[in-house]
Amino acid sequence: MKCAICEKEIEVLFLDKINGTYIKKEGKLYPICKSCQIRFNNNKDELLKNIK
Ligand SMILES: [Zn+2]
Repeated sequence: MKCAICEKEIEVLFLDKINGTYIKKEGKLYPICKSCQIRFNNNKDELLKNIK
């Protein structure tokens, strides 16, 4: 699974749990890695703006 912002591979912990978060945009779920979460201070609006 790749991060929707930096496109790096995200570590999957178990089942659908990832080392990061999911963010919803236009009805679609995007995976976001931990470092992008930290980079944007987990600010949902900033994360949404940076999704490719
Ligand atoms: Zn990322």
